[in-house]
Amino acid sequence: MIDRGIPQPHIHYITIDQIRKGLGHDLLKAAGLIVIIAGMTVPGKYLRGTPINLSEIGDITRATSGTPVILGGPIRLGYGSQGGMRASGFDFTGLTLAQSDIESFVYDMLAPGRGLKDPYSVDHRERTTQEIARWGVKGAFMIDQHPDYPHVMCELETYRGCARPEHCSFCTEPFYGESDFRNIRDVVSEVRALYHHGARYFRIGRQPDLFSYHARDRGGELPVPDPDAIERLYKGIRNIAPALKVLHMDNANPGTIAAYPLESEQIAKIIVKYHTSGDVAAMGMESADPAVVRANCLKAMPGDVLEAIKLVNRVGDKRGDNGMPELLPGLNIIHGLKGETSETFDHNFRFLKMLQDNGLMVRRINIRQVMTFPGTSMWQDEGTGKYHDLFMRFKDKVREGIDLPNLKRLVPVGTVLKGVMCEVHDGITFGRQIASYPLLVGIPDRLPLGQFMDVTVTGHGHRSITAIPYPLDINSAKARLISQLPGVGKKRTRSIIRSRPYRDGDDLAGKLGDVEGILPFIKIE
Ligand code: SF4
Repeated sequence: MIDRGIPQPHIHYITIDQIRKGLGHDLLKAAGLIVIIAGMTVPGKYLRGTPINLSEIGDITRATSGTPVILGGPIRLGYGSQGGMRASGFDFTGLTLAQSDIESFVYDMLAPGRGLKDPYSVDHRERTTQEIARWGVKGAFMIDQHPDYPHVMCELETYRGCARPEHCSFCTEPFYGESDFRNIRDVVSEVRALYHHGARYFRIGRQPDLFSYHARDRGGELPVPDPDAIERLYKGIRNIAPALKVLHMDNANPGTIAAYPLESEQIAKIIVKYHTSGDVAAMGMESADPAVVRANCLKAMPGDVLEAIKLVNRVGDKRGDNGMPELLPGLNIIHGLKGETSETFDHNFRFLKMLQDNGLMVRRINIRQVMTFPGTSMWQDEGTGKYHDLFMRFKDKVREGIDLPNLKRLVPVGTVLKGVMCEVHDGITFGRQIASYPLLVGIPDRLPLGQFMDVTVTGHGHRSITAIPYPLDINSAKARLISQLPGVGKKRTRSIIRSRPYRDGDDLAGKLGDVEGILPFIKIE
């Protein structure tokens, strides 16, 4: 829009959560053009922020009758709210679906000198990397309209498309064709613009495999990674945004890492040198059943994934500044793929157990049922939900037998996590560090939302941890927080409270005896 001469004050950004709270309706009514970005290709559950659904899109369209509404984003591939289902088509009157890139559609609709073009006369086309370079910089001002600003994670696209000659059966990435790498200089310029507008949290995301950014095609199944390109990208970002608070990555193809271990180890070391800790290389394993890997043309055999996990652990398992390991693999597993049998679940569990037995850490294991999209080879498959009950039991077994012990090793009791933002009240306060894949932290107290604090880990759930503020002020803390201190139960909590206030550590020790176990986690004020 800016590139078409629309002044900044005329461009507004609202999230669906704001609309749900009754905000922004006047803006919608007064708008001359409404652009809705919606849809997801990877279904998930979120602590805050639920993606817009079809009935909400319909409500907005009806409430603003007469105003052109353009819908785009991943929803153009089909709409689905959860895994295990087919993404469906939909039909709304009064709305135009941008069937390719919504950015270029809106740009073309605003052709100079012609007012707002009739959407039916606009071509559906992909935006070029030159356009995205321009628009990324010109649109950076918009960040301060986000309700969480300045605590907003900015996703930086480095490329899209998949270089493999054959593609995984479920994946929509091949719709974008060959990898269209963005210039390193352009990505860094986008960071400069966002940083200038107050952005401090960045994730190098969107691409299917960061290790393949600017990889060179040498005629093999996978292109050869270019560590120099990754170094220039990360160094450029760090130089231009010296006070950034988070720099994380997203996807990594375990097939690339296994095929090119030397280049990949160099890249993992470069990432750890320039990033911020608590980073995750999310690996799409999808299945540890070789028959399923073959039937779906998946990118890596279990042995390849194992090598990739070992490499990332070797380089990244040291604890970093924010209390989390520097860089760990994340693992995505998909059920409902072609060729799946009940034995597939055993293959997958055995693989995860083997990681655990070998002391390998995984930051998080994402297990889901496949969502099928038209145009993928899974689309014709009828068997996606065949083992639904087995799938639910498998998930529970992984949560109990794998996730829980994994989490205990990842962040043992007594670990101090820095910069947890309080986000939701639900009996207690839930918060997270701002990160690509943050750990959910439950704090047994009602704390002001939006506040940042350091916490001491005191317990583990399957997918979350319990923690208390660090350091805990022993003279004023509530009993339920004191009772969470390592080695302190109900009885000792009562003695601690009875003998308050304490002047200093000596006074504490004089009144309570051995306090070595709690001293690292408290303060005395
Ligand atoms: S999931 Fe498969 S098809 Fe999709 S981007 Fe990765 S390697 Fe390519």
